[in-house]
Amino acid sequence: MAKERYDVVIIGGAVMGSSCAYWLSENPDFDGTVAVVEQDPTYAKASTGLSAASVRHQFSQPVNIALSQFTSEVIANFHEMVEVDGYAPALGFRETGYLFLATEAGLATLRRNHQVQRALGVEVSLLTAAELHTRLPCMNTDDLAGASLGERHEGTLDAFALMAGFRQRARHNGVTHLTDRVVGLQHTPDRVTAVQLASGIELDCGHVVDCAGTRASTMSSMLGLGLPVEPHVRSVFVLDCPDTLDLGPGRRWLPLTVDVSGVWMRSEPPHHLAGGVPRSDLGVDHDDFRVRRDEFEDQIWPSIANRIPAFERVRVTHSWAGHYAFNTLDHNAVVGPAPSHPNFVFANGFTGHGLQHAAGIGRGVAELICHGEYRTIDLTPLGYERIVTESPFVEENII
Ligand SMILES: Cc1cc2nc3c(=O)[nH]c(=O)nc-3n(C[C@H](O)[C@H](O)[C@H](O)COP(=O)(O)OP(=O)(O)OC[C@H]3O[C@@H](n4cnc5c(N)ncnc54)[C@H](O)[C@@H]3O)c2cc1C
Repeated sequence: MAKERYDVVIIGGAVMGSSCAYWLSENPDFDGTVAVVEQDPTYAKASTGLSAASVRHQFSQPVNIALSQFTSEVIANFHEMVEVDGYAPALGFRETGYLFLATEAGLATLRRNHQVQRALGVEVSLLTAAELHTRLPCMNTDDLAGASLGERHEGTLDAFALMAGFRQRARHNGVTHLTDRVVGLQHTPDRVTAVQLASGIELDCGHVVDCAGTRASTMSSMLGLGLPVEPHVRSVFVLDCPDTLDLGPGRRWLPLTVDVSGVWMRSEPPHHLAGGVPRSDLGVDHDDFRVRRDEFEDQIWPSIANRIPAFERVRVTHSWAGHYAFNTLDHNAVVGPAPSHPNFVFANGFTGHGLQHAAGIGRGVAELICHGEYRTIDLTPLGYERIVTESPFVEENII
């Protein structure tokens, strides 16, 4: 059996694995070797490429806000950060904003989140229904009591470009990329010693980082560690609307609007996108990428047409389904070392917000491996300990 040795082996090479590899290889205090093992270099089923690729600062938990704020810094400096020989993939960031809507019942939560966000410097406005109608005349605000509108730094980008940028620079810095599948972990009672690949190659390792997305729990189960992460399907619909929306003065795009029904919609010029949470939101098979067309008819279309009457006349031109790596305990990320095997590091369970947090999570994982502690954003609240004690760390703004 062929044997190789790496200081860090990263399982999964999509946005999270690429970010971890990038930050390790950029850390001046790290001179070790890194291998990223990816089973499918087309990333056809990875959440990363099937994402709605949006970034927001409007979270309820300070750690999630801090991660998004860091992403905005990365977006602003991406070219310099990842360029190789003058080339960097273009992120194409469009600052559309996010808009959270609330009826009377949801107003207290909206206000509470607003206070947390403003205290941390988020540029967000709390609007009455009348103010919202002035800002976005296309919107029916009759049943609303208020709204929270992001004024800066929120929007959409090219998910593949984010991943490709981190990956190209990591490769340039000497990170090895292996096209292979992790099928086993060798371990003692308190550490992982080697990663076994389907090809028969065995990788001795210092650390292992689990960036396997929806398959993350398969990895941790090899150490006997439970992880409440499973694939949940999300269908996204691309819409043509024959009418031009009245978006008010100066606004070019419909913000990513989270309706009181839970359905979301946004511009994707020249189209619009919409999606929602299935009524029965259960784990699905890893190969089940069937678009839930009935969801559009039963849930999404009625909601978007109620909110924006012009959407009564939309036509679905295209659709796709992707998987959330869904954390069934609290819909939040699980990041950090396994207490029983401290050289095994989780970077999982991002549910619907992993793309926008990949930069900060990757930097944090690199700090943990290089320095034994988080030095920038404290990711301790996202640690695995809460999984063991079943103590949810609840994020109220989950989409
Ligand atoms: C429809 C949809 C909309 C979304 N919208 C947003 C959004 O607007 N904003 C946002 O921030 N996030 C969004 N997300 C979530 C976001 O896409 C994910 O959180 C993020 O992409 C997770 O990245 P990842 O690298 O952890 O996982 P993935 O992208 O799933 O990558 C995991 C990788 O691990 C590899 N792998 C798995 N097992 C093995 C193995 N045994 N050996 C080798 N390789 C393995 C897989 O092949 C895969 O490439 C959305 C997701 C979906 C599905």
